[in-house]
Amino acid sequence: AQFDTLDIVVLAAIFLATVAWFTKGKYWGITRDPYATSYAAANGNKPGKTRNIIEKMEESNKNCVVFYGSQTGTAEDYASRLAKEGKSRFGLETMVADLEDYDYENLDTLPEDKIAMFVLATYGEGEPTDNAVDFYEFITGEDVAFSNAADPPLENMKFVAFGLGNNTYEHYNSMVRNVTKALEKLGATRIGDAGEGDDGAGTMEEDFLAWKDPMWTALAEKMGLEEREAVYEPVFAITEREGLTKDSPEVYLGEPNKMHLEGNAKGPFNAHNPYIAPIAESREIFTVKDRNCLHMEIDISGSNLSYQTGDHIAIWPTNAGKEVDRFLNITGLLSKRDSVISVKALDPTAKVPFPTPTTYDAIVRYHMEICAPVSRQFIATLAPFAPTEESKVEMAKLGSDKDYFHEKISNRYLNIAQALEAISKEKWTAIPFSAFIEGLNKVQPRYYSISSSSLVQKQKISITAVVESIEIPGRDALKGVTTNYLLALKQKQHGDDHPDPHGLTYEITGPRNKYDGVHVPVHVRHSNFKLPSDPSKPIIMVGPGTGVAPFRGFVQERAAQAKAGENVGRTILFFGCRKQKEDFLYSDEWNTYKEALGDKFSLITAFSREGPKKVYVQHRLQEHAKEVNELLLQKAYFYVCGDAANMAREVNAVLAKIMAEQRGIPEAKAEEIVKSMRSANQYQEDVW
Ligand code: FAD
Repeated sequence: AQFDTLDIVVLAAIFLATVAWFTKGKYWGITRDPYATSYAAANGNKPGKTRNIIEKMEESNKNCVVFYGSQTGTAEDYASRLAKEGKSRFGLETMVADLEDYDYENLDTLPEDKIAMFVLATYGEGEPTDNAVDFYEFITGEDVAFSNAADPPLENMKFVAFGLGNNTYEHYNSMVRNVTKALEKLGATRIGDAGEGDDGAGTMEEDFLAWKDPMWTALAEKMGLEEREAVYEPVFAITEREGLTKDSPEVYLGEPNKMHLEGNAKGPFNAHNPYIAPIAESREIFTVKDRNCLHMEIDISGSNLSYQTGDHIAIWPTNAGKEVDRFLNITGLLSKRDSVISVKALDPTAKVPFPTPTTYDAIVRYHMEICAPVSRQFIATLAPFAPTEESKVEMAKLGSDKDYFHEKISNRYLNIAQALEAISKEKWTAIPFSAFIEGLNKVQPRYYSISSSSLVQKQKISITAVVESIEIPGRDALKGVTTNYLLALKQKQHGDDHPDPHGLTYEITGPRNKYDGVHVPVHVRHSNFKLPSDPSKPIIMVGPGTGVAPFRGFVQERAAQAKAGENVGRTILFFGCRKQKEDFLYSDEWNTYKEALGDKFSLITAFSREGPKKVYVQHRLQEHAKEVNELLLQKAYFYVCGDAANMAREVNAVLAKIMAEQRGIPEAKAEEIVKSMRSANQYQEDVW
């Protein structure tokens, strides 16, 4: 039988409906907008995307993969920079790979002429970053199960490695160290030294730059690469979308993904999909001259988010209007701020870090970390695009002279737009917008230690945040991105429709007013910082300043347990601040907890600026040596929260000293005990 036209139309309609049904809308966006990048797909469920890295490299013709394990975006940024440099200087066909996106069983089949790079941050207590947990467990596992069982399995693999760590932590750069060791044990060949960047010393960027040059030399020699004149090649194509305006419904104005754009955001809410949470309550718990501290209650009912006492909440910030304007102005984009553009990766392995079509304004406001410190390498990259001969020379000098760069840029805490302004007031219109997308981090959510107990308020998360404002001679104070945004939200909640803390203004009602009524985008990150499951166990907490945040939650929880008739163990909190009358956090609340807990609870305070001598929490700890030691002998849990750079380290040292004195053992032995307490989770830190 022959089909007539009607049959064909009917069949075609059935076919299309079937495709639509099975793809459940995944591809519909593409037919509607040929330029839109499938952001949700790139960041979440990836239809048909391979997890086979070897296959991916083959099909996209790559010979160098840069894997990253990143928590806050820096490792990811370094990975992209290595990939770009490998391509522009040595003609390597590079790609960047999120460790979470691939399987590792076939790494033993990586061909000999290819190279693997690892950029690995160490997080918290020597842990891998969230996206590197599986890889770490696989590669350091007892019986690494590769697909081909060659012997040694990774004999073909050549790799380079750089780690991002912080020397104030016990397990400095343990991620890169352990992975390097594991790879070598499996037969892989390391090229050049494994680099280590130190955030604790504030030298991360310089450590990276100092590591990569000899690494490239070693790699070029080993692989027979020839260096060529590096020319800038954009990774992304920017297309102006004449037919669209910022009011077109398909244009993203800062919405984090498609569900948010279409107004049907739903869970699971996580690092790719924030919950737009109502702020139930906000206040300042202290306000003095240039310092203030916020307390906020974030309502998570209706989100199916949950938390446990000791977890972290991530706040997704928005850049201040003043800095957005500064950036758009100096780059010559001010008049085009609302023009609609699409951004498309020119390389199939590159990801556009935000959804499009969108506007310049939305990208700069919601997605680019425009206020962060500037990298020297980025300045060098931008040099050819400087507006005048003079500024070209200056940029090249800044890019190549570390000390000069520090004097002119880092020491003054300039962000990228401020740096460009300082170098030349002319508009920097020649810089391709792609260079900013590549060279600036994407805006990172900031974490806060939840300061409430999930037992007491399951649906409301408290945070306690000091508003960042740093006085810098010769310029305006440096204002923290997130905390000033939160301050503006607090002002709005208290009746100010145009809040402008310190002269900063925000798009406070969010894209298309979706955050109106005082909302903030959040997600929850579960942590290992936890109360003992048995409430009768004694606990000792050390939390000066905002380090007290999780301990407010701990004490709140124990007070509730005591009220409910449970047997609650000794609960000691060491708290420190400058002055009792100035920045004593929750000073009124502690009495309520004391009423519930009675003698079980002691709050021991150290006010550093009240006496002739500065007194800190570690001094108070020393004064209470006897009880501290006795409780530890009863297996008390010991917690430290707050400043990683000094306090946490000193508390660690003082604790060892206390044990040595009280138990009459050598200090070295006491230090060993502290270490074993840490491995047994009896000593827990939540520091930043
Ligand atoms: P940012 O804009 O991120 O600035 C932060 C700092 O970066 C500045 O102070 C400055 O030193 C540096 N910086 C920024 N821009 C520049 C520049 N252009 N040049 C040079 N340096 C620059 N904080 C709390 O208040 N309470 C908590 O309970 C809490 N818990 C935390 C828990 C965890 C696990 C972590 C990781 C952090 C926690 N923090 C907490 C810190 C918090 O996440 C933020 O870092 C802090 O609030 C500052 O954020 P911000 O966006 O306001 O400042």
